[in-house]
Amino acid sequence: MALAPYAARPETSRGRRVDEPSSGNRTEYQRDRDRIIHCAAFRRLEYKTQVFVNHEGDLFRTRLTHSVEVAQIARTIARSLSLNEDLVEAISLAHDLGHTAFGHAGQDALNACMKPHGGFEHNIQSLRVVDVLENKYAAFAGLNLTFETREGILKHCTKPKAQHLGDVGRRFLDGSFPGLEAQLANLSDEIAYNNHDIDDGLRAGLLTLEQLAGVPLFERFYAEVMGLYTNLSDKQIRHEVIRRMINFLVVDVIETSQAALDALRPDSIDAVREADHPLIAFSPEARRLNIELKRFLYRNLYSHHQVYRITSKARRVIKALFDAFLDDPKLLPPKFSERVPPESDDPDRDIRARLIADYIAGMTDRYALDEYDRLFDPRRLR
Ligand code: MG
Repeated sequence: MALAPYAARPETSRGRRVDEPSSGNRTEYQRDRDRIIHCAAFRRLEYKTQVFVNHEGDLFRTRLTHSVEVAQIARTIARSLSLNEDLVEAISLAHDLGHTAFGHAGQDALNACMKPHGGFEHNIQSLRVVDVLENKYAAFAGLNLTFETREGILKHCTKPKAQHLGDVGRRFLDGSFPGLEAQLANLSDEIAYNNHDIDDGLRAGLLTLEQLAGVPLFERFYAEVMGLYTNLSDKQIRHEVIRRMINFLVVDVIETSQAALDALRPDSIDAVREADHPLIAFSPEARRLNIELKRFLYRNLYSHHQVYRITSKARRVIKALFDAFLDDPKLLPPKFSERVPPESDDPDRDIRARLIADYIAGMTDRYALDEYDRLFDPRRLR
């Protein structure tokens, strides 16, 4: 399919950090996607969760199924806008690689532990995974992905941190935008989690259809579904409403973005980067509906008593692991403890803390719980 002039193209890519001969049968962005799918951090996404902890049930979204849903939404929109589907898929599949176990509670706990040592931010960690931590290639560190995929992975970043991130950090300093595929993966992430969190919340019984009737975006399609059908099961209602909500947001992004692109007519990905506003966007109405939906989720799902109790436990697990390792790095597995510098070379313990953060961030939900038992249960031998 022909790409629009403003799409990312392998021929005009800003390239990889280490030059490599091209593959012959795959584009550079297909190759990025394939490297992501074959990395260990990607497989770990299966056992990391966002809202529900992995052992709560087999039907809830994990970071892996979330990432696949983001890729699905992003590819649909990319194809409609003649953007680069391979690139948007690579970014979508990689966007959560740096997330800790236990969703946002885990990220917040690790960030609090790392506060005196430069902090912890999952976007930056995702980039660190693909740039540094995945090391199995002979010729380079990390996965040696293209600039455009790395640009998409680094979704947010503060200015002080951006200063240390080289080429991909520059846009946070000069206020420019990333390519359209990166903007699109970002919005698709939002569409995916708002909708699947409602689905999971209803399935878990933490949310009810009655509660959701007060949320305008849900209400609109709930009324439509109830007008079309009678005798639907709750499961069918849930699905029929949510598929319409996703479709509404997808169509809205396609139409709004196409209009913005037609108005500005950027002639290259660099023209997109230099535009004075992001070109992939919701309409003002969809944005408002989405914000209301998000608010509802914060009030009713993310701070639900049952979710709160689990996340509070998760916070304690992460903090206990971090404190124990910082205090005595000999507790770390040898491949990490061997790299801890002597205290005289690392007086503020920043290097030690970063190694520990890398180890903890890589843990899946169940690995973190198991490691906690191994460290603190006196009856556990190994
Ligand atoms: Mg995500």
